[in-house]
Amino acid sequence: MTTAQMDTSPVSTLSELRTDSDRLWQSLMTLAELGATPKGGVNRQALTELDRQARDLFIQWCKAEGCTIRIDAIGNIFARRAGTDPDAPAVMTGSHIDTQPTGGKFDGCFGVMAGLEVLRSLNQHDIKTRCPVEVVVWTNEEGCRFAPCMMGSGVHTGQLSLHEMLAQKDTDGVTAGEALDAIGYRGSDEIPRENVRAFFESHIEQGPILEDEETTIGVVMGALGQRWFDLSLTGQEAHAGPTPMSLRQDAMLGAAEITVAVNRIAIEHAPHGRGTVGVMQVHPGSRNVIPGQVNMTIDLRSLEPHSLTAMVAELKEVVEAVSQRHRLAFELTPTADFVPEHFADNCVNAVRNAASQLGYSHLDIVSGAGHDAIFMGRIAPAGMIFVPCEGGISHNEIENAAPKDLHAGCNVLFHAMLDQAEIVS
Ligand SMILES: [Zn+2]
Repeated sequence: MTTAQMDTSPVSTLSELRTDSDRLWQSLMTLAELGATPKGGVNRQALTELDRQARDLFIQWCKAEGCTIRIDAIGNIFARRAGTDPDAPAVMTGSHIDTQPTGGKFDGCFGVMAGLEVLRSLNQHDIKTRCPVEVVVWTNEEGCRFAPCMMGSGVHTGQLSLHEMLAQKDTDGVTAGEALDAIGYRGSDEIPRENVRAFFESHIEQGPILEDEETTIGVVMGALGQRWFDLSLTGQEAHAGPTPMSLRQDAMLGAAEITVAVNRIAIEHAPHGRGTVGVMQVHPGSRNVIPGQVNMTIDLRSLEPHSLTAMVAELKEVVEAVSQRHRLAFELTPTADFVPEHFADNCVNAVRNAASQLGYSHLDIVSGAGHDAIFMGRIAPAGMIFVPCEGGISHNEIENAAPKDLHAGCNVLFHAMLDQAEIVS
């Protein structure tokens, strides 16, 4: 072997390999044409005709890269590039291409297009891996047409029942099963849950931290656990004039005190505590009647299970004390319970090492929102890569991200996957 040949051997140049920024951007922009809105966003809700077109496009692109396509019973699409060892565990990535009605071009789509760009880069550089590399499109991550969110990954990982999910209806009474049939995406492939070495999801941050810290890559350590409640407080309606302050049973006053307490509880559980009252319905809603009833929602989040448990206990204490003080009856009903997720060391380290080696600024971060990778983390080692988005805004047509940041996130994904997939030549 000559010196020149040694210099260009794959191993010596591996760290210099990059994905193609223009190609990544072009695929994102082409995908964004399907369901494009006048304000520059995308409205491509799950299992619609537009979703079918986007799925067809993804499959066409993956087939051009020589991938094998499988589709399961909830419509998840798995595009696999074979490894040299047929028994080796898969190294996977993926996200979603359905959007909110006022969605943007990047939420979910970046994760899928970054995965496609990894496939294209592997082929372009003629890289063989021992492990198969697989890109997944998860069905209905957004949950806006059919509840709940993260439907496809929930079914694949056994967190949600296939039977129940197929029966979920949209507001027109169409079931998810019927919608899958209508677009031809009710598949019959059985996808084993086992034999996955790593699942990575790259995603825009959907929050303001990376931009604020002027940092390119978020190494996602895990995701906040969530406990949701409906609270109804019942007092007594009475005339706002004749009823003295000491004799009132004002449900709104109780609701206000509880709202302030939810905020305090979250702050006391810093840095990862979150507390939000997002809905409040006041009855009877008349300016000169003391409110007799309030129905409200409470959303508590934290990264550590013991902190989340403590937050819930404090909430219950507050609700009891406030209700007693204002002579209110209360009903506190849990509506969702997601345990905190700590991502696997091999995935977190692969992301952090890739970011370091590629020279990108990075910081450890947690996800405050739900993602498909969180469900995948229940059955396999999982990790996420965040990139900044403008103003931290998403689920909005003005959602925006810089091509250079998306390219950086894609390069980190590429190298994290190479690290796990074992290069053969
Ligand atoms: Zn998303």
